[in-house]
Amino acid sequence: MNKVVVLGTGPSGLTAAIYLARANMNPLVIEGPEPGGQLTTTTEVENFPGFPEGVMGPELMENMRKQAERFGARFERGWVSRVDLTKKPFTLHIGEERVVETETLIISTGASAKLLGIPNEKESIGMGVSTCATCDGFFFRGKKIIVVGGGDSAMEEANFLTKFASEVRVVHRRKELRASKIMQDRARENEKVTWSLNCTPLEVVKGDQGVTGLKVKNNETGKEEIIETDGIFVAIGHTPNTSFLPDQLATDETGYIKVQPGTTRTNIPGVFACGDVQDHIYRQAITAAGTGCMAALDCERYLEGSQVDDWSKSL
Ligand code: NAP
Repeated sequence: MNKVVVLGTGPSGLTAAIYLARANMNPLVIEGPEPGGQLTTTTEVENFPGFPEGVMGPELMENMRKQAERFGARFERGWVSRVDLTKKPFTLHIGEERVVETETLIISTGASAKLLGIPNEKESIGMGVSTCATCDGFFFRGKKIIVVGGGDSAMEEANFLTKFASEVRVVHRRKELRASKIMQDRARENEKVTWSLNCTPLEVVKGDQGVTGLKVKNNETGKEEIIETDGIFVAIGHTPNTSFLPDQLATDETGYIKVQPGTTRTNIPGVFACGDVQDHIYRQAITAAGTGCMAALDCERYLEGSQVDDWSKSL
């Protein structure tokens, strides 16, 4: 029987593990299909405090893992197929055979950026294709960039990227944008933003040094062309990794776990959520790490019985 199991090894899960291990809670951390989370698919991270020269994403995550291990966190690789939260202890089914019991659970399984699924896209991540303007915009100073998508994220990223880029071209598969009017207006008023609407991305074009263009099809004329670019930001939404969780855990309409404002408590006493799996707004490594710390403290207080708030009024 475990006191606490942490699901996921991104910045939130590993920060929770560091705090729990230092509090002698002997956490078991389950590493899923993408150990280290989204940062392992980026190159240099320049905005994580404490690294004036920047740090490589995989190195940062490896260091967080070592830090958790140093204080006694236990790690296990596995795919959690089913979770029973109806009674205590909670049970987690890992793979076909293994069943793990735990008094409390911290869910930090993150969210995955949606990709277009076109040729050369996945292998160009970190080499000219990005899913995070805040993380990677800085590397494109004075360059030409494409943002794919027609929602609020795409408009926000397009505007943000004009701080660095010489031109930001929005490529969207329909004539109409999905984004709210105010976000559309802001992008339309920005002189550096140009538009390729009604264009479906077909293929990322790359050369020896990385991305050189995006092949698109104009849906009206059927004509295919290559738009030259130095970088492509895919901003077509995120999917929280919650599909394996049972229905009784409260989520919003898009699948993000609901937490009591200002805490990491879910609607089920003893179950906590931190990181991107409960945050579709900030989505930064540092905010994920911050909520990981909160989850460990919330969990510790819950197990000590010093958690006096009423869970029933939670969500
Ligand atoms: P979204 O609203 O779901 O928009 C996704 C966009 O990507 C849509 O335009 C969609 O095209 C396009 N798309 C999806 N799959 C595609 C594919 N396979 N190929 C090409 N294009 C594809 O997602 P979001 O923009 O990330 O926003 C998510 C939520 O967060 C929204 O509620 C949004 O309002 C909110 N948000 C708010 C702010 C803000 O207020 N500052 C900023 C960001 C996000 P179609 O339009 O053709 O479906």
